[in-house]
Amino acid sequence: MITLALSKGRILKDTLPLLAKMGIVPTEDLDKTRKLIIPTTRADIQLLVVRATDVPVYVAQGGADMGIVGKDVLMEQGGDNQFELLDLQIARCKLMVAAPVGHQRQSHRLRVATKYVNVAQDYFASKGEQVDLIKLYGSMELAPLVGMADCIVDLVDTGNTLRANGLEPTEHIADISSRLVVNSLAYKRQHASLQALVNDLATQVAAANEGAVS
Ligand code: AMP
Repeated sequence: MITLALSKGRILKDTLPLLAKMGIVPTEDLDKTRKLIIPTTRADIQLLVVRATDVPVYVAQGGADMGIVGKDVLMEQGGDNQFELLDLQIARCKLMVAAPVGHQRQSHRLRVATKYVNVAQDYFASKGEQVDLIKLYGSMELAPLVGMADCIVDLVDTGNTLRANGLEPTEHIADISSRLVVNSLAYKRQHASLQALVNDLATQVAAANEGAVS
């Protein structure tokens, strides 16, 4: 049995069609079921649908053999006991600094609100800038609006959320997409079956992106 941990939300929406092309379809309605381990049409593959930040934890601890998770989460948390094997090129977006439209450079230390405190710390340190970090767990856009922060570090896709809140992207930190990670011990022990799945996924990703180009 191969256990694959999937990130809830946007990534899940983009992952399911990719898995379906490989004949891996959940046998439960994911919107309705209360089951936490989801069987699939492939008898040898089961799914865990968990919070994005928990995916590398399940994979590190061996609760899942493999996981699909955003590069943003891997950059922030690191990934113990796991390898990143494949860029699935789904749920693409950018990790950016954003600030109120027309903002002025502050003379005081920049106050940065984000859930990506490690990434933000490293990014500003790489520019020789010391900042005050404010850790939030969601709706980062709110912090500059209430005067709590000068800027945010967050994922930007269409830019609609920033625009709706009078913010604009100011600096690009990284391009983000979803990655396939594998528990390092499982990858040794069940190499043939896991590698077959990796190869299948790589083929689907290549086909999807050829389709996008032509
Ligand atoms: P948008 O308005 O399209 O720029 O989307 C921005 C909002 O969606 C922010 O709250 C982001 O944190 C979130 N977001 C954008 N892209 C992703 C992604 N690939 N995965 C998870 N959250 C995302």
